[in-house]
Amino acid sequence: MTPEKEAAYRADLERALRAGHAILEKGGSSLDAVEATIRVLEDSPLFNAGKGAVFTHDGHNELDASVMDGATGKAGAVAGVRRIRNPITLARLVMEKSPHVMLIGTGAERFAREHGIAFVNPKYFWTEPRWKQLQEAKRAEAAERAKGRGTTAAVLPNAETEGFKFGTVGAVALDRAGNLAAGTSTGGMTNKRFGRVGDAPIIGAGTYASNATCAVSATGHGEYFIRSVVGHDIAALMEYRSMSVVEAADEVVMKKLVKLGGEGGVIAMDRFGNVAMPFNSTGMYRGWIDADGKVTIAIFHEP
Ligand code: ASP
Repeated sequence: MTPEKEAAYRADLERALRAGHAILEKGGSSLDAVEATIRVLEDSPLFNAGKGAVFTHDGHNELDASVMDGATGKAGAVAGVRRIRNPITLARLVMEKSPHVMLIGTGAERFAREHGIAFVNPKYFWTEPRWKQLQEAKRAEAAERAKGRGTTAAVLPNAETEGFKFGTVGAVALDRAGNLAAGTSTGGMTNKRFGRVGDAPIIGAGTYASNATCAVSATGHGEYFIRSVVGHDIAALMEYRSMSVVEAADEVVMKKLVKLGGEGGVIAMDRFGNVAMPFNSTGMYRGWIDADGKVTIAIFHEP
């Protein structure tokens, strides 16, 4: 990664953190903070969500997002939407304005239309680096198939095509009232097909929040995160085994997932504001901001 690129990632992460902090500072809710933070990242072309979403095998961008309110246990999610600029806002609307938890595809877009959500032409999501990644993924897939190893349903981990790791975005926050919230937004995996949906919109896997334990958002190879029910497992270890958020997140990401071969990481926060950000990949763009507005940003494993 070039120094310029790294600076750009850091700048966008900081902007996102400050957007959330501005809300919390005024006494706003953790849900508002999570949504505002994720919207900044969705609007950036750098991350695999919103504007910078990866391509499906067929050359589309299909976006997934979810949000959960730790105070009420309510949750909302959307999957496979193609024309929604900020899927996190639509996920929140599903939570607040529908009796459902998850809406998909054109149905989710009809619901969005009824609620006046911002639509974009699907071309809005076209970016050159992502398009190149799809071509690379297809070449790699063809090479695998030539060796007799590929299957028609192969999805290549983004890690293999991005040169750098997963780009799904997420946020967790704790507000003054003591309420936790979590949200996640993604374009999924490069070269995905057949309407594949990852962990990001699955409540309990890619996103989970409960005031009793923690708020979690995950990034990584979604199939493993779904099977391991990562977000809820971290909360359950805290609730039933009295682990701290750091111990619980470590147990799931660095032990259980590693054993299964699942690459990725999480951001997690408990009701005291303790933060855990373990990842078993080379790097994970991450940052946090405290009540005083002090920002810390990191990419690789720090000593
Ligand atoms: N977890 C996402 C998915 O499987 C991908 C990612 O985090 O980059 O769809």
